[in-house]
Amino acid sequence: MAKMQFKAESKRLLDMMINSIYSQKEIFLRELISNASDAIDKIYYKALTDDSLSFDQSSYYIKVSADKEKRTLTIADTGIGMTKEELENNLGTIAQSGSLAFKSENELKDGHDIIGQFGVGFYSAFMVADAITVTTKTIGASEAYRWHSDGADGYTIEPCEKEEVGTEIILSIKQNTEEDSYDEFLEEYRLKAIIKKYSDFIRYPIKMDSTVSKKKDGSEDEFEETVEEQTINSMVPIWRKNKNELTDEDYENFYHEKHYGFDKPLKHIHISVDGAVRYNAILYIPEQIPYDYYSKEFEKGLELYSNGVLIMEKCSDLLPDYFSFVKGMVDSEDLSLNISREILQQDRQLKLIAKNIKNKIKSQLQTLLKDEREKYETFYNSFGRQLKYGVYSDFGANKEDLQNLLMFYSSKEKKLITLDEYAAAMPEGQPYIYYAAGESHERLEKLPQTEVVADKGYDILYFTDEVDEFAIRMLMSYKEKEFKSISSGDLGIESDDSDKTTETDEQDSKELFEEMKTILGGKVKDVRISKRLKSHPVCIATEGEVTTEMEKILKAMPN
Ligand code: ADP
Ligand code: MG
Repeated sequence: MAKMQFKAESKRLLDMMINSIYSQKEIFLRELISNASDAIDKIYYKALTDDSLSFDQSSYYIKVSADKEKRTLTIADTGIGMTKEELENNLGTIAQSGSLAFKSENELKDGHDIIGQFGVGFYSAFMVADAITVTTKTIGASEAYRWHSDGADGYTIEPCEKEEVGTEIILSIKQNTEEDSYDEFLEEYRLKAIIKKYSDFIRYPIKMDSTVSKKKDGSEDEFEETVEEQTINSMVPIWRKNKNELTDEDYENFYHEKHYGFDKPLKHIHISVDGAVRYNAILYIPEQIPYDYYSKEFEKGLELYSNGVLIMEKCSDLLPDYFSFVKGMVDSEDLSLNISREILQQDRQLKLIAKNIKNKIKSQLQTLLKDEREKYETFYNSFGRQLKYGVYSDFGANKEDLQNLLMFYSSKEKKLITLDEYAAAMPEGQPYIYYAAGESHERLEKLPQTEVVADKGYDILYFTDEVDEFAIRMLMSYKEKEFKSISSGDLGIESDDSDKTTETDEQDSKELFEEMKTILGGKVKDVRISKRLKSHPVCIATEGEVTTEMEKILKAMPN
């Protein structure tokens, strides 16, 4: 029996595939530029192994040009080009990657930069173009070829004229429809922005003819517009440079260029790891709370690059919530990307990187606390609350990581101290770490119970942030000393007063206490004699786990 061929409406199939893979149309430019960069890489590798070739970096570049009248966008490169067979195989077959083949044929060593691997990126251009023409001439060939497709019924290939080795891809940009606008892909400023966003660290210059406005010769205030060829990308990523070559200013500039924040970062962390998973990262601890930090709009995350190409703008899996204030980027060549290169295939590498990054941030904060106390306090005033939430959340899973980064106001020292400092200053025999929770330091100072504790020479930590007491409850103890609210029933302190209360006192006052309870109605559970008062006649104490302050907060929380 004769075998029948499946019939498919190729255009619809192509549309469906492309639009389901990519979330944004602008990605096509990233894909075409990545291909151009790969093509230049290939000629570079050829030159390394072939003595008859030389590679002069300055004559290799990518050029992007738009023609509004003709509605064309051209991406040209001086890369290796394609033979007729390669055109057929690589552009005529979806999911055929010449770059992947090149990688395995040439057994490229670690550290290579070739980006392509899936063999679909090229077709992303059909998201914005209704026809594509590729003119190419490969190295050592006398003939050049033209490949053309309008996406519908395949493609044609014919010989053509082309002087230089390389490839030129001309996109006929679609007309605007009611739903979608395509004009933007012919706008200079828009193209520049897309190049900057995704391809800023492509190693070869990406050039564009740019309109610049200049003062007219001999004139003070008259301007004229001229066209100049400009390189749009920064090329060398700062994170691949040697730390010793970089100044604080370089890091600050990068922070601002990337719009990580408007402030001056408090600290930068530059990481280069060459272990089980290889990656480079530049992280920043900002000085100020971003304006939207406590709003729903705030998204934590780091930029994620694969081989210098931006994959994700905010990769949230790279940061735990309690370090959500950290800004920066990670670049790794070891990521296994999914076909759209927008998300990851599997997250084993990412998990390793995230863990590594978490530990680096933690140890850097620890160092800051130890060596630059003032800076740490600035940081803590901005983001300390986030660390306390971190202790409290996930059922205290992170408390080990975070407890040594916490600071609280010491009533004795009149400043922020760490738990370690509190513990070190404890007099012999102090049974608990004492704290008082309330609205303000002034109010806490006036609490009747503070007196007895302070009289013993014990320090009291003042908690004025709502999360404080919750976080401390999660910690339970520090260096084997339990935390104790000074308004709890048993403070573990015997009053020094000689006239100690006795059973008889309790009996004698029984009637008075009953009377007081009646007058207070249901507002108190019990009235008792206290051993914790000095100059104050009365205080409110709590029994059990939830203190009065916590109760207030819990009541105020939306159900
Ligand atoms: P990938 O880049 O993942 O391999 P693409 O669909 O983007 O897949 O490209 C398919 C193949 O076409 C590439 O692997 C490469 O061999 C070839 N190709 C695409 N663009 C160019 C170019 N500008 N110069 C040379 N070869 C190219
Ligand atoms: Mg590609």
